[in-house]
Amino acid sequence: MIVVMKVGSPEAEVVRINQELEEWGLTPEKIVGKHKVVIGLVGDTVDLDPLQLREISPWIEEVLRVEKPFKRTSREFRHGEASEVVVSTPNGPAYFGEHHPLVIVAGPCSVENEEMIVETALRVKAAGAKFLRGGAYKPRTSPYAFQGHGESALGLLAAAREASGLGIITEVMDTADVEKIAEVADVLQVGARNMQNFSLLKKVGAQEKPVLLKRGMSATIDEWLMAAEYILAAGNQNVILCERGIRSFDRQYARNTLDLSVLPVLRSLTHLPIMIDPSHGTGRAEYVPAMTLAAIAAGTDSLMIEVHPNPAKALSDGPQSLTPESFDRLVKEMEVIGRAVGRWAAPVVAVA
Ligand code: PEP
Ligand code: MN
Repeated sequence: MIVVMKVGSPEAEVVRINQELEEWGLTPEKIVGKHKVVIGLVGDTVDLDPLQLREISPWIEEVLRVEKPFKRTSREFRHGEASEVVVSTPNGPAYFGEHHPLVIVAGPCSVENEEMIVETALRVKAAGAKFLRGGAYKPRTSPYAFQGHGESALGLLAAAREASGLGIITEVMDTADVEKIAEVADVLQVGARNMQNFSLLKKVGAQEKPVLLKRGMSATIDEWLMAAEYILAAGNQNVILCERGIRSFDRQYARNTLDLSVLPVLRSLTHLPIMIDPSHGTGRAEYVPAMTLAAIAAGTDSLMIEVHPNPAKALSDGPQSLTPESFDRLVKEMEVIGRAVGRWAAPVVAVA
């Protein structure tokens, strides 16, 4: 349920209403939007009468029920406004959200050694990326496949962060590793295979680093948003949703079916920022550029693209990884579409 305050409501009145709602046994959450203040109410609100709640103050404009199973995640909970996720990086804050320029995340599937991760970081940064991705802990279908270098790879990510100034996005698979990974990562990634690992969702929700929540490969949009709800309910409001392709009946030519329809659908359902991952979404480097450009045209807030200095030798996901040269070319094409849809950052002008 949400309580929408009238424009210009005195702060003291909002505080008083919050206290009164707490006395009713509710957990109010004040959300300050661009135009209005709303108070979100979650928990057992089925027996509450919106008309009775409205009587609490003449400054209440309306009281609305959030009909969806996801509450904090829903667009209504923010009274229709988009949220932004601000991530601090060595190069300053990066902003993810509907009203910000596109954010590019790039890097290898796995962190293999220091030379390759630092080289990739410098190359993708020069091309225009703001974040380096790279797995230290890898979820692999086969137990015999390369599992990632684990803790030692975290040190290599820290070195790449230092050398490039890029923010770091890396996956956490186990609740036991959250703190250790959060010391190095600027954003914690919860992978497709863990989208409904509820213990992990609660744990990343109880710490402060922003979370990138990938869509499970067979997850419905409601299941995905309920997974995000776990993180928000645990206290962390900084969640970015990442579409990375779903399973459909035909896997002959593409590894997954990249569901770009999530862009308009999520826009209407949630205030959270959206990322598209065309690399896992297609599984083939040659399909990545077309889907990247389509995602920008369809309004994505950010993109995650796998880039490897030598894809033929990659320890994981080589076939879908771009070379640094092809990534350079792609970013130039991205700029054309990004400008056309008003989502390209203006170049930073040095002030003497
Ligand atoms: C990855 O980003 O390398 C990864 C394993 O992604 P997903 O969870 O989408 O498969
Ligand atoms: Mn990968």
